[in-house]
Amino acid sequence: MPRFVNRIVTIGFVALLPACASMRTPAVKNTSKSFTTVVVDAGHGGKDNGAYRRFGGAEKIATLDVAQRLDRKLRESELKTVMTRSSDVFISLDERVAIENSQKNAIFVSIHFNDSRRRGIHGFETYYHSGDSFDLANRIQAKLMAIPHSANRGVHTANFRVLRLAYYPAVLVECGFLSNRSEGNQARDWEYRELLADKIAEAIVEQRYGPGVYRGSPQVAAQTQPQTEPSNGGTSPAPAAPHR
Ligand SMILES: [Zn+2]
Repeated sequence: MPRFVNRIVTIGFVALLPACASMRTPAVKNTSKSFTTVVVDAGHGGKDNGAYRRFGGAEKIATLDVAQRLDRKLRESELKTVMTRSSDVFISLDERVAIENSQKNAIFVSIHFNDSRRRGIHGFETYYHSGDSFDLANRIQAKLMAIPHSANRGVHTANFRVLRLAYYPAVLVECGFLSNRSEGNQARDWEYRELLADKIAEAIVEQRYGPGVYRGSPQVAAQTQPQTEPSNGGTSPAPAAPHR
């Protein structure tokens, strides 16, 4: 008999475990197809430069510029936006999460640039945490791959605080490596940052309203026409399933 009780207690305990685990990570409201607000998060800021490289300058400057361009494009597409910062100020990760989670029906898109000790490493990466965020992450990565010479470093899950604690679908986009000569130089070019913002905006609008709705700037459209050379090596389409 004691053995039997023991087993019930054990089974009960094991059954409770998933519930406990989910309490640590908030349940995501799947607004990935119904959202009305986009929280645009420019990575770093103020005392936090992010990556700082000779080619690309301070990450916080490039992230803010791409975020502001993205913000404008989304508003032009009739989406409501909230920026976690709109100037060079420090915002903690918890504050970013609080801004994100205080919205009514939102998604969260965080803009970053990457860094590596190996200068040769280049390409785009998009991160997410909840399964409900995967579609959006995959779509953003796929749109970025339309940029000439872009390299696909894949869509991955990550435990980043701004993703893990989000109530809504949330993704983090690494818009290339400041440590790479080519991508670092591009990150300093406003036309290229406009192109990055355009691709991310297109993905977000498509996620919400379907293909063909987004109207990018004519200048950007000219830059991504087929007359440009085909992309070089490592440009497989974004993976259909998460790597890890
Ligand atoms: Zn960063």
